[in-house]
Amino acid sequence: MQKSINEIFELQKVHSILLRSTGAAERKEKLRKLKMIIQENEGLIFEALQIDLRKSEFEAALTEVYFVYAEIDFAIKNLSSWLNPRKVAAGLSSFFTKNRIFYEPKGVSLIISPWNYPFQLLIAPLVSAIAAGNCAMLKPSELSPATTSVLLKLINDSFDSKEIACFEGGVEVSEALLELPFDHIFFTGSPKIGKVIMAAAARHLSSVTLELGGKSPALIAEDADLQKAAEKIVWGKFMNSGQTCIAPDYVFIHASKEQEFLRLASLKIAQLFYNNDVLDKSSYGKIISTGHYQRLKALRDKAVDDGAQIIKGGTDSDEDQTIEPVLLSKVSVSSAIMQEEIFGPLLPVITYESISKAIDFINQMPKPLALYIFSGSDAIVRNTIKQTSAGGTCVNDVVIHISNPNLPFGGIGNSGSGSCHGFFGFRAFSHERAVMFQSKIDFSKIAYPPYPKKQSLLKWLKKIM
Ligand code: NAD
Repeated sequence: MQKSINEIFELQKVHSILLRSTGAAERKEKLRKLKMIIQENEGLIFEALQIDLRKSEFEAALTEVYFVYAEIDFAIKNLSSWLNPRKVAAGLSSFFTKNRIFYEPKGVSLIISPWNYPFQLLIAPLVSAIAAGNCAMLKPSELSPATTSVLLKLINDSFDSKEIACFEGGVEVSEALLELPFDHIFFTGSPKIGKVIMAAAARHLSSVTLELGGKSPALIAEDADLQKAAEKIVWGKFMNSGQTCIAPDYVFIHASKEQEFLRLASLKIAQLFYNNDVLDKSSYGKIISTGHYQRLKALRDKAVDDGAQIIKGGTDSDEDQTIEPVLLSKVSVSSAIMQEEIFGPLLPVITYESISKAIDFINQMPKPLALYIFSGSDAIVRNTIKQTSAGGTCVNDVVIHISNPNLPFGGIGNSGSGSCHGFFGFRAFSHERAVMFQSKIDFSKIAYPPYPKKQSLLKWLKKIM
């Protein structure tokens, strides 16, 4: 791109004022254009995801490209109603007024994304930014360079940089962008960098949406259907080689069910990811970088040094940065693997004697992005939801709550703040502006001075308040 970050920001600032008065029709047109550009370049996107993460076309279609189509289609279908000023009732002191909430664009937004779903996690927030009438400056991850170069081409060849612009680079580019007074920053990444983003945003009082990560537990109650739990957890954990923000990070199971779960999970791993005992790499991704590959191997080795047993896995392939699915039991909760987000294909299984102790343990940890509950009992499920806190929850399943655009997707505390998808994404990039229309019968005049004449009104107010 010829123009500098600062020049583009200034252009977007001017253009964002014009965008304020755009309506649903113009924004839908932009969303249709975005979808068409993606459709025309699907092949390039699939190829790039294969290079960066060895994502199969099927997985890439489902979790990245078609996910974005669904987000675009949902926004197009609902945008007119989202943009309708929302009616709210008048209060006692504003009795005859008409009151509305207007959704106005925040202005110029910054979207910074990670490498694990490098296409979807940049474009889905862009869909919300466009729907809400914003300009956007985008910074994809430097760790998924093939996808980043497709994104740069797609965006910068098709949109005017005064409205949408994509920038290549690592920390230094993020830092240069974060110097600017954005109206909103939408960040997806680690809690550690989330703190850097929030501190940078504070300098300009920019609003932020932080989509972060953390350790998401899968809690299996004594009465759970173990076959189903094993199948769901193995699928959700080892998809994209464990590099999914809402992958179950660890399993927490009643001690009496541990052995059966380990047996069923091992079988499921073999069924889903192996062909005659040979890892089927056409359905199993690679680790994104040498750094993460080494980090994961060290986490696993340290867990074993601290007393863990490897039930399945333990074979790596340095040439293509592949770590075969690892199932671990007897894991020490003080080992590093239970202290930090794993974000890779290592699944520790830890046990509890009573579910209340398991809940206490979960509550001592930072609030997770997802908490999965497996149980046949409505009472156990409801109590667990009530007694814990998490960004989102699936009951008797994992991960798929992300696919419903009617649900907000986001974290809480250490796993993030704010939410995205569907209306919630539109809302993240909008300001909810309170507008009151005064009526001909102006009730507010009763509050005007001189106050000594208002004694009887004050008496009446004292009675009713
Ligand atoms: P990361 O925080 O290291 O990087 C994310 C982005 O921030 C990248 O674009 C990177 O270039 C930029 N960045 C890195 N250091 C920076 C700095 N000092 N200043 C400014 N920008 C900086 O995260 P990652 O390794 O790319 O992704 C993994 C993390 O993201 C995991 O914690 C995962 O759980 C989380 N994640 C969350 C979601 C979600 O929707 N909540 C989705 C995917 C991943």
